[in-house]
Amino acid sequence: MTHITFHGGVNDIGGNKFLVESKGTKIFMDFGMSFSQEGQFFSQFLGPRTSNSLNDLFELGILPKIKGLYRRDYTKHMGFGGDEETEIDAVLLTHAHVDHCAYIPYLRPDIPIYCSEESKLIMQNFDETGKDQYLTLKERFRIHEGSDGTMMRTKGDKVKVPRRIETFESGKEFSIDSITVNPLPVDHSIPGVHAFILHTSNGTIGNTADLRFHGRRSEDTEKFVETCAESDLDLLLCEGTRVDAVPSLTEYDVESTVAQIVNDTKGLVICGYPIRDLDRLMSFYIAAKNTNRDLVIDMKQAYLLKLFDASPNLKGMYPSPTDKNIKVYIQRGSWGLIDKDIEKFTEKQLLEDYGTWQREFLDYPNAVDYRDIQNNQKDFIFYCSDYRLQDLIDVKPSKGASYIRSLTEPFNTEMELKEDQVKNWFVHFGVINRDQDWYKIHVSGHGDGTQIKKVIDGSNSKKLVPIHTQHDEYHKKWHGNVVSVNQHDKVDL
Ligand SMILES: [Zn+2]
Repeated sequence: MTHITFHGGVNDIGGNKFLVESKGTKIFMDFGMSFSQEGQFFSQFLGPRTSNSLNDLFELGILPKIKGLYRRDYTKHMGFGGDEETEIDAVLLTHAHVDHCAYIPYLRPDIPIYCSEESKLIMQNFDETGKDQYLTLKERFRIHEGSDGTMMRTKGDKVKVPRRIETFESGKEFSIDSITVNPLPVDHSIPGVHAFILHTSNGTIGNTADLRFHGRRSEDTEKFVETCAESDLDLLLCEGTRVDAVPSLTEYDVESTVAQIVNDTKGLVICGYPIRDLDRLMSFYIAAKNTNRDLVIDMKQAYLLKLFDASPNLKGMYPSPTDKNIKVYIQRGSWGLIDKDIEKFTEKQLLEDYGTWQREFLDYPNAVDYRDIQNNQKDFIFYCSDYRLQDLIDVKPSKGASYIRSLTEPFNTEMELKEDQVKNWFVHFGVINRDQDWYKIHVSGHGDGTQIKKVIDGSNSKKLVPIHTQHDEYHKKWHGNVVSVNQHDKVDL
C-alpha cells in the first residue's frame, strides 16, 4: 500500500509537508512553514519559545507530532524521546522558498535532505549571512551526566553538526529505499526548483512544486508536463496558487519595461525585487547593460552570486559578483566607520565593522559605497531592499531619481502597512510624491489559471490533489477525479 499524509500545504498557500509511505519507506516532500498558520498565532514579538518550540508548534497543530523526526537536543530537552531510531528515510526538497523549507532546521541532522545544488547554496547563504541552521545544526541544549553523577543541562551552541545534504541532478533518477525519484526542473521565482515524479511499488506520483510558464525557464515546465504524460501518473499533486488569476506579462517584459523606465530617468534608478530571485536580478542586470548603467547589488546578493560562481556546475548561469556591469554596495557597518578618518581608525577596525562573511567584499575592485553612488547617480541602478531603506539616508537620491518596485502586491493589512512605510521613505527623499506612485513591474512565480489547466491537461494523471491553493474549484472544473484534502488527511494511491 502507498499513501500520502498531507501535514500542510493543502487549503493553504505554502507550508508543504507531504509524507509519502510505501513498503516501509517514508519520505517527506518539503518541510515548509505556513505563513497563514504561523500568522494565526505568532507575530514579530510573539514566537514559539526556544526551549519549548516543538511543544508549542505541536500544540497549535503547526508541526506534526512524529517521534524520531526532530533534532535530539530539542526533543530530549522537552522529554519527547530522542534516543529512538528515525523512521523517516529522507526529505525531498522542491526548492528553498521558506514556505517549502523553513522547518528543516527542526529536523534531525541524520535524516538526509535531497535537493538541487542551487537549493543547497541558497540554504548555505541563509546560514552564513544570517542565523539559520539549514546545513549545519548548532545544538542549543545538552543534557548529560555531570562529574558527581547528577544530570546536567548546559547550553550547547558550540557543538556544530552537519546535516546530511544529498544533491541530485536534474532528470537523473535515484532511489531512496523502495521509491525511485525523478527530479525535474521547473520554472519558478528562485533558482533550482524541481518537481518530482515518484515511482512506488503501487504506482506513480507527481508533485508539481511551484511552477509557471512565463519566466526564463518555461521549456523546463513544458518538459516536466511531457514527462508526467509519459510516466502514466496515478496521482498528481498540482499547485494552484494563482489559479483564479488571468494571464500576465512575462519575465522578458519585466526586463524590457525596466530598460524603458531607466532610459526615461535622468538621475538614479532605485529598485526593489525579491532578493533570492536571481532570474529577476538578471532582468535588472540586462536592463542595466542595455542602458549603459551598472547594477549595484547588496552584500547578501553578492554572497549568493559568489557561491554560484564558485560551483563548477553552476558557474556562468548568473553574473559573477565581480562582473563588469555589477557593483557591490558596501553599506555602513555597525559602527559606521566607512567614511571616518582612517588615520584615527585603523584598517583592522574598519574590517571589524563588518560581519566575517561581508569582509572580503571591501577589497573587491567593483566595491562602491554611498559616495560613489551619490556622485554618479545617472550611472547606476541601485538595489535597495525594504530592510535597508536607511541606505537612502547615505545615498541621498537627487532630483530626477525613480524607484521601480518589482515585488508582489500587498495581500493583507500587515503588508499594506509595511508598504505605506516604504512609501514614506521615497516621499521623504522626493523620489515619488503622494499622487504620483512608484513604477510597479512584477510577474509572479506561479502560473495563472490557463497555465495550471495546461499542466492538468498535459500531465494526464488519473487522480489529482490540489496543493498550495485555497481554490480547489478550478481543479475540479478541469479534471474529473479530484480529491480535495484537509491538513493531516491521508490519501491512498
Ligand atoms: Zn516557491
